[in-house]
Amino acid sequence: MRRARKRTRPVTVGPVQIGGDAPPVVQAMTKTDTRDVAATLAQIDALAEAGSKLVRVAVPDERAAAALAEIAASSPLPVVADIHFNYRLALQALQAGVAKLRLNPGNIGDPQRVRAVVQEAVARSVPIRVGVNAGSLDPVWRKKYGGVTAAALVASALSQVRILEKEGCCQIVISIKASDVPLTVQAYRMLAEKTDYPLHIGITEAGTELRGAVFSAVGLGVLLAEGIGDTLRVSLTADPVSEVRVAYDILAATGWGHFGPRVVSCPTCGRCTLDMRTVALEVERRLQGLAEPLVVAVMGCVVNGPGEARAADVGLAGGKDAALIFRSGEIIRRVPPHEMVDALLAEIEALVAARRKEQ
Ligand code: SF4
Repeated sequence: MRRARKRTRPVTVGPVQIGGDAPPVVQAMTKTDTRDVAATLAQIDALAEAGSKLVRVAVPDERAAAALAEIAASSPLPVVADIHFNYRLALQALQAGVAKLRLNPGNIGDPQRVRAVVQEAVARSVPIRVGVNAGSLDPVWRKKYGGVTAAALVASALSQVRILEKEGCCQIVISIKASDVPLTVQAYRMLAEKTDYPLHIGITEAGTELRGAVFSAVGLGVLLAEGIGDTLRVSLTADPVSEVRVAYDILAATGWGHFGPRVVSCPTCGRCTLDMRTVALEVERRLQGLAEPLVVAVMGCVVNGPGEARAADVGLAGGKDAALIFRSGEIIRRVPPHEMVDALLAEIEALVAARRKEQ
């Protein structure tokens, strides 16, 4: 059971609200070379189709900044420009029409340059995320707090916020990320006590698909269950579409509702006579892109399988000679095993069509 959401100020990124009474917003980051407009837009389309609400792109140089105008104009999602050190790139990004900046004013240094960026962002109602990463924590804070501690990360992030506030910016989002899960959780808890700016949560460099999903689920799951987190990005060394899927699974697991179909599949055991791993993966693959929240059970035997299959919206309980297909708790078909996936998908399609007709 998740706790009540911690109240934060609303910040708007194009048409998307972060914080306030908005549910946590899923965002993603492209992995293409931003200078390659076509490849970047293709990846943004895939992320939008997967359900991401915002997309961040890295802007490492002038050519990447020059590509932003076309990307922002054609993107189906509000674009966030990720910039380090170079205030000219930030100004260029704002002029290109991005919806949000991710930058740390402390990295820019010169107050005049920071002022120029912040004034342009405020004039365009573009919010700024300040993001502190444990791996690149300013040595000043490391020294002051005796290492990369939660207190050091929080102090560093709030010092960046103060710089923005001094220049008149109040549309601010804050992140504090580490690859260490307990450190990240502790830092966000401290930060949530000290500020009401919305928080962007994530475990940085979480790892490859499986490890990264587990670490992100544990860290972000704890925070979301405690009511902390207004927008989330899952960082995986994998296709960014997987990051979006994992983010929605974390939201579903922490009580933020179902997002698209959820496939419940049995782990299989000595009773199972079918290749259920292949079957479950095939069902998941064929359900990709379906937005309807429904539970689909894929079970490996007709002994214990029917219980779970009955509880799902649509389910199958496979057996050696025949599989039972369930819909809304009732057995509606008995089919040979080689037809069970098609039969299951046909029932899902029929159920979705019936629900859409009722709406
Ligand atoms: S549903 Fe059947 S096959 Fe699957 S784990 Fe349970 S008993 Fe084993």
